Amino acid sequence: MTSINKITKKIIEFRDAREWKKYHTPKNLALSLIVEIGELFELIQWQSDNEIKNQIERIKKQTEEEISDVAIYLFLLAHELGIDLEETIPRKIEKNWLKYPVGSLSEDTIKWGKTEKN
Ligand SMILES: [Mg+2]
Repeated sequence: MTSINKITKKIIEFRDAREWKKYHTPKNLALSLIVEIGELFELIQWQSDNEIKNQIERIKKQTEEEISDVAIYLFLLAHELGIDLEETIPRKIEKNWLKYPVGSLSEDTIKWGKTEKN
């Protein structure tokens, strides 16, 4: 498995070879991330969960590409902000384990996102 930092390095090499760094401000990267999330969502827009499930193979290639675009902008944004996702993601998962102990939340609490810790 390739690490996030190795993938980010490849993304940076691709970007720098094209001299696009000047466009990659945190604001522009955050906006690009939102655009790519929109492109991902467009694949399933207006469809029920069942409809999405039934056509996942048909849209898998496009979905892979859009999710990759999202990851690319996310990794670039983290890089430009000096955030090491290989350190922060495990830390955040650990924090979530403590925030949401197994079996501690009702189905309604999970569904509506209401906790005492919000
Ligand atoms: Mg895209």
